[in-house]
Amino acid sequence: MESLTLLISAADVAEAVQRLAQDIDKDYANRHPVIVVVLKGAFMFAADLVRAMQTPIQTIEFIQASSYGTATVSSGAVSVVMGLGPEAIAHQDVIVVEDIIDTGTTTARILADLQTYQPASLKLCALMDKPDRRKVAVAIDYLGMAVPDRFIVGYGTDFAQKYRQLGAVYAIEEEN
Ligand code: 5GP
Repeated sequence: MESLTLLISAADVAEAVQRLAQDIDKDYANRHPVIVVVLKGAFMFAADLVRAMQTPIQTIEFIQASSYGTATVSSGAVSVVMGLGPEAIAHQDVIVVEDIIDTGTTTARILADLQTYQPASLKLCALMDKPDRRKVAVAIDYLGMAVPDRFIVGYGTDFAQKYRQLGAVYAIEEEN
């Protein structure tokens, strides 16, 4: 069994999402960015973020990356399922929406892949960052909050597919 410890309340998550939406609105006045959501973990964050944004979006696209399986420690190997063609990205202002930047491996790979599609600009918006765990440098243009080096669940993020539906963010501990 696992036990959950509250890290970020739903109200604090909502406040961070509003702030990020406002920051994006300021920067994207008169532009219509393409939002690229990294599934599955960012689905809830992205849904709240786009609703909080005033900026009209061009399209919303979804890609899937996996490096974890069901383990709580990254395997280091990343596979990316794009699910979108170069035409969705080429010459567009693109904002990638991620749940957590951990080692940076997944996001660096995704950004490199999207860059080959020649966007007009490519920015990263992440709800959470675990800076202590970084192995690959990643510039986070819009960051919700830093979190400690603990395994996070809730608000879209999972442990073996559980807990995604929780409205707050928790740290999980496995108990024997
Ligand atoms: P990275 O490649 O940066 O090490 O890992 C990135 C992805 O691993 C994140 O987008 C997220 O899906 C997953 N991940 C990293 N840390 C955590 C965590 O603490 N909890 C959960 N549920 N997923 C995480």
